[in-house]
Amino acid sequence: MRVLITGGAGFIGSNLSRYLLENVEGVQVRIIDDLSTGRLSSLDGLDVDFIEGSILDYPTLLAADEGVDSIVHLGAIPSVPRSVAAPRPSHEANATGTLNVLEAAREAGVDHVVVASSSSVYGSNPALPKNELVWTRPMSPYAVSKLATEGYALAYQSSYGLKTLPFRFFNVYGPLQPADHAYAAVIPKFLDAALEGQPAQIQGDGLQSRDFTHVDTVCAVITEAVKNKTSSEYPVNLAYGTNTTLLELLEEMESQLGFPIDREHVEPRTGDVRASQADGIRIKELFPNVKPAPLADGLATTIEWFRSIKGSEGDNESR
Ligand code: NAD
Repeated sequence: MRVLITGGAGFIGSNLSRYLLENVEGVQVRIIDDLSTGRLSSLDGLDVDFIEGSILDYPTLLAADEGVDSIVHLGAIPSVPRSVAAPRPSHEANATGTLNVLEAAREAGVDHVVVASSSSVYGSNPALPKNELVWTRPMSPYAVSKLATEGYALAYQSSYGLKTLPFRFFNVYGPLQPADHAYAAVIPKFLDAALEGQPAQIQGDGLQSRDFTHVDTVCAVITEAVKNKTSSEYPVNLAYGTNTTLLELLEEMESQLGFPIDREHVEPRTGDVRASQADGIRIKELFPNVKPAPLADGLATTIEWFRSIKGSEGDNESR
């Protein structure tokens, strides 16, 4: 089986590369990534065919599709605040980039494409938990670009018979998720602050809730999907119906770390949603063999990874 991962040097892509290589006999992994947010070091030790290039460079993308069985399209500018600060680059990478990936698949004869959409497409819809059929109302340019991502994937299914599977990822977390940039996600940000002895910055009151999904759960689902060439006529929430507030998240971190974490409340972020929770029904129907990692277990592996990189930073400093 040959799999092309766009954005494969990113957080989810590098975990997926490792997961595929460890769990699928004879798999070949090719990656196209422009390294805008991804890091080559995340692929250290993995036997992958890496192409440094952009999905906006159509000839390079088309060449990357050669001989591929499935494409997992993760390449994107994956941030709500970045899109609010600069909507056009988000649109180009996420919406135009997806169109390119689908067009290249069609031209190269690749018949199966998994794409990464986002729970942010629900935006201001207050329904909780969310099933895939409730209305969407994006609140940020990023969310619009992800609605375009899944819309294009579904349109290529009905227009050209391409087998497509749009996943709506909820808050994915785990090893290799960076904390050291302005748009870092909440779990790496809190863990980094805690291990540096800094306060965790909470945007708003901390009662906003998320359906956190461990990256290995996401990788297990995507692996099943590429093995079986699973498609769906509508988007699928890739989350299991958990509902954790940021304050509860901090409590769980404190109990695992064994020390208290100071809190600093700052202004809420434009475009952020208050509560995000999937109903988890469709994902279990489609992938009954995947057992999602509970938050406590997922946090344990994430903390272990953070401690290991903090340890090696310490080693480097002492050299
Ligand atoms: P990431 O930033 O770590 O990975 C994205 C990768 O895409 C990076 O390696 C980046 O260099 C690459 N990339 C960006 N523009 C590109 C381009 N034009 N051509 C080629 N590569 C390009 O982010 P992630 O968290 O791994 O997210 C992966 C996907 O999942 C994204 O599509 C994101 O929108 C989606 N998603 C993630 C989450 C989450 O919680 N992490 C939630 C919802 C959706």
